[in-house]
Amino acid sequence: MPNYDFDIGILGGGAAGLTVAAGASQFGAKTLLIEKGKALGGDCLHYGCVPSKTLIRTAQVYHLMMNAKRFGLPDADVRPVDYRNVARRIQSVIDIIQKHDSEERFRKLGVKVKFGNAAFIDEHAVRLNGDTYSAKNWVISTGSSPAIPAIAGINSTPYITNKEIFSLDSLPKFMIVIGAGPVAIEMAQAFSRLGTKVTVVQRSNQILSKEDKDMADILMDALVSEGVILHLNAGIVSTKDLGIEKEVIIKNVEGRLLNLRADMILVALGREANLKGLGLEGLSVESDKKGLTVDSRMRTNHKHVYAAGDVTGEYQFTHAAGYEGGIVLSNAILHLPRKADYTYLPWCAYTDPELARIGMNEKQAKESGIEYSVWTEEFRANDRSLAEGEEIGKIKMLLNKKEKPIGIQILGPQAGELVNEWVAIMNGGVKLSTMASAVHPYPTLAEINKRVVGNYFSGRIFSDKVRKTLRFLFHYKGS
Ligand SMILES: Cc1cc2nc3c(=O)[nH]c(=O)nc-3n(C[C@H](O)[C@H](O)[C@H](O)COP(=O)(O)OP(=O)(O)OC[C@H]3O[C@@H](n4cnc5c(N)ncnc54)[C@H](O)[C@@H]3O)c2cc1C
Repeated sequence: MPNYDFDIGILGGGAAGLTVAAGASQFGAKTLLIEKGKALGGDCLHYGCVPSKTLIRTAQVYHLMMNAKRFGLPDADVRPVDYRNVARRIQSVIDIIQKHDSEERFRKLGVKVKFGNAAFIDEHAVRLNGDTYSAKNWVISTGSSPAIPAIAGINSTPYITNKEIFSLDSLPKFMIVIGAGPVAIEMAQAFSRLGTKVTVVQRSNQILSKEDKDMADILMDALVSEGVILHLNAGIVSTKDLGIEKEVIIKNVEGRLLNLRADMILVALGREANLKGLGLEGLSVESDKKGLTVDSRMRTNHKHVYAAGDVTGEYQFTHAAGYEGGIVLSNAILHLPRKADYTYLPWCAYTDPELARIGMNEKQAKESGIEYSVWTEEFRANDRSLAEGEEIGKIKMLLNKKEKPIGIQILGPQAGELVNEWVAIMNGGVKLSTMASAVHPYPTLAEINKRVVGNYFSGRIFSDKVRKTLRFLFHYKGS
């Protein structure tokens, strides 16, 4: 049997790589973790979830201050935002979480941590800083980077991505956001709330194009009412650097050319797997335009080379990366065959209101040709929403023909928290009748989860048949 330096080698110290590294070393495997950047933690900690959610919260507080009157309070004397202070707060939150993802912590767990650019020299070994490291199994978890579209002029026009946006020196006066996915929309709203005049340009006919249009449109109306300008069905023709200002020429829905100008352009048009420089071409590891191709056990076409997280291009979320890291651990370290199953993978766009989902939406149900019914309940009928002044949105429940929930979408306050009840219900196979009879505390936002189920049952409970039976049994007079 060949003698390798390590049982498992991991390329990339983000959510996926750290999950594998921590688990493998604690199970007693000799573990090597190689990270290209200066610190562990990956995009989520440094340029993704953590800074964006911190920024969103700051923007929310500022928005509430500006709208104090809505809550019966006197107008607040609010001064303009100094973005350097916002960036400082973002960095301080990153610094706290960095301790959990520190090199020291992983070394203590028994992981050999190395920094630098590693490239495969054969299918069991990489070359790093002039040394060779071999491992029985490898995991590629190098994440993704912002995809930069082939737009005329983009290479000579300064723009920012999620890598720069959280550490700007000042708040831009005008910002053009190219794209309308979750990152684009979260940033558009946050900057608009902080005082930037934001224009979003989107190719398709809705924002968050993977989500159901009726849900996304409610959110879009909320953004527009806050002052965000949206161009849907618009193509980018070219960009140009005009010095202080940058120009973006778009072809709008009517086919007219519009000349947009801003002091900052944010490109948020999706992600590209980080595969360059890994030496994978020499090994013929299969990939497509989304990322590395893996089977349901997260194995590439070389069965001892696994891939997890954004680099597979599938579900680009931190919790998906962590989940896939767990699948790798099961298969590579515990030798327990375990397959990834995304049926009940939840996610959320952390806009205000938030848009969360688990399971299928109507777009997918229609595409797959299954029979389904839709049940809804509005947040404006939820007492707590009214008390909070957060009444925009609704919950949408899809049932299959056996009347089992196949998908939940929640657009509303704290939707990302509210969807967690459905995570338990759907993964645990909890019956809707159990949910309907379970008591929820009053007044809570989560009552909306029970109410939508109640809407489904009420047609049956308060039916003519039931009324007639009760009248017959108990001689009720009727109304
Ligand atoms: C602005 C923004 C907000 C987001 N918000 C959320 C959110 O709220 N919730 C959510 O679930 N997801 C969110 N995401 C997505 C989330 O950040 C990613 O899905 C997650 O970071 C993926 O984890 P990963 O381990 O696959 O990759 P990463 O976290 O990117 O880690 C990959 C690591 O590999 C390293 N690397 C790259 N190349 C090499 C190499 N050649 N050798 C060694 N190391 C290498 C990188 O430096 C990096 O540290 C957000 C993303 C962005 C951009």
